[in-house]
Amino acid sequence: MTEQGFTVWLTGLSGAGKTTVARRLADVLAGRTHCRPEVIDGDEVRAVLSRDLGFSREDRETNIRRIGAVCGTLTRGGVPNIAAVVSPYQDARDDVRREVGRLLEVFVDCPLALCEQRDVKGWYRKARSGEVTRFTGVDDPYERPERPDVTLHSDAETVDQSAGRVVEALHARGWLAC
Ligand code: ADP
Repeated sequence: MTEQGFTVWLTGLSGAGKTTVARRLADVLAGRTHCRPEVIDGDEVRAVLSRDLGFSREDRETNIRRIGAVCGTLTRGGVPNIAAVVSPYQDARDDVRREVGRLLEVFVDCPLALCEQRDVKGWYRKARSGEVTRFTGVDDPYERPERPDVTLHSDAETVDQSAGRVVEALHARGWLAC
């Protein structure tokens, strides 16, 4: 068991691999610590906790802060958690780090062209055709993390390698009991 909680905050473009890495990481940590982390997926939160929000800068910041508040509550309650959220703004990510404390900021880096090629949910096609607007990376900004704790390259490493590197970083901080 982990004695205290922590948050792994995965940020990156849509299709970069945040959800995929989050799920694999949850599996690895569940096997290692016998405590399955909660996975908080930005898309799922949008449909429940942030249904009232759109995609203006203000609404996006509110969405990030809400998720940060949930992560902070879990972490303080001793529950390891993994958030997979585009979270395009440095300021908002910094606020979440302050709110949570034991937070590992993980940048899932992947070239936009590859994210578009993957187009897991068809959003890029819709963004390019104008069917949706204000799509991060297409016609809305993504601020690359200035000082991420870990940078993953989903175009150059496997999901297992990525998950392993996050586990190493958690271990190095002493956040894993075993
Ligand atoms: P996001 O949550 O960032 O929007 P997803 O995890 O939903 O992205 O989608 C990423 C896609 O890229 C998945 O289809 C996944 O299988 C694929 N993929 C290929 N290689 C990798 C990798 N090394 N790491 C993460 N995802 C990868």
